[in-house]
Amino acid sequence: MPEDRFSFPPSSCIGDLTMDEVRLDQLRQAIFDSVERIADIPVVLAQLTATDWSRWMSDAGGHVAVCAGCNHYARTADVVASDLPWLSQNVYCHECNDRLLAEHTFVCDVCAHTFIAQYPPTPFKVCPECDGPSVTIALSSLQTQLQRARKLNLPATLTPRQWLDTLEYFGWRCAYCLRADFACMDHYIPIVQGGGTTMKNCVPACTSCNSAKGGRPPQGYLIKASAFTRVKEYLEDIDPSA
Ligand SMILES: [Zn+2]
Ligand SMILES: [Zn+2]
Ligand SMILES: [Zn+2]
Repeated sequence: MPEDRFSFPPSSCIGDLTMDEVRLDQLRQAIFDSVERIADIPVVLAQLTATDWSRWMSDAGGHVAVCAGCNHYARTADVVASDLPWLSQNVYCHECNDRLLAEHTFVCDVCAHTFIAQYPPTPFKVCPECDGPSVTIALSSLQTQLQRARKLNLPATLTPRQWLDTLEYFGWRCAYCLRADFACMDHYIPIVQGGGTTMKNCVPACTSCNSAKGGRPPQGYLIKASAFTRVKEYLEDIDPSA
C-alpha cells in the first residue's frame, strides 16, 4: 500500500516526529491487526483516540514519550527527567526542561550564587545556604525600613548584602553601645528628619539605644556623644559600591 494513500499516523497526535522515528512498522502492524480489510484502515484512523494512540506508542517498544511540559511526543532519547526535584517524576523535552529550569533559578541577594526554588522567593532571594533565623530577622527589618523610606519618597537603596555586611561589621551588636545584640535598624539621620534607608545612614541598634535616640537629631542625649561620633565616622567612611 503506497505511503501517500492516507496520512499515518494522524498529524494531530504525532507532535514533532516523522514516521520512521516512531517504529512505524510496529504501529502499522497494530493497525493492520485490528482491521479485516485494508479499506477499513482510514475508518480506524478516523476513530483513533489519543488514548489508543498512546497505547500503540508504548507498544512500539518505549521509543516514544510524552513531554509533560508541552504534551508533544518525542523520542525517549530526546526527553529527560526534570532537573527540578519536585518534578523529577516527569519527563520533558530539552526545550521545556531548560525553560522550567530557567523559571525556577534565582540569584541569591546575599551570596550572588544561583539556586533553585519551587516558588519565587520574596521580597528577597536568599539561597538555602545563606538562609537562617538571624538573616530572616535582619532582612525583615530591612524590608520594613525600605518600605518606610519609599513611602516618604526618601532614598531606599540598602541591599540585603550591604545590610548584612553592616551587621557583620558591628558583630550583630548595637552600633551605639557595642554591647547589646542587634534588635532593630537605626537610621543615623532619622527617617522623620529625611534620612533614607541607605548603607550610609543605617546601623544596627539595640532597643534601648534606638528608643533613647528616637526621632531626635543625632546628638547625645542618653547616648554618649563619642558613640555618635564613632558611628558618624563609620558611615562617612563606608563605600556602598565596595
Ligand atoms: Zn516539551
Ligand atoms: Zn546565598
Ligand atoms: Zn545599644
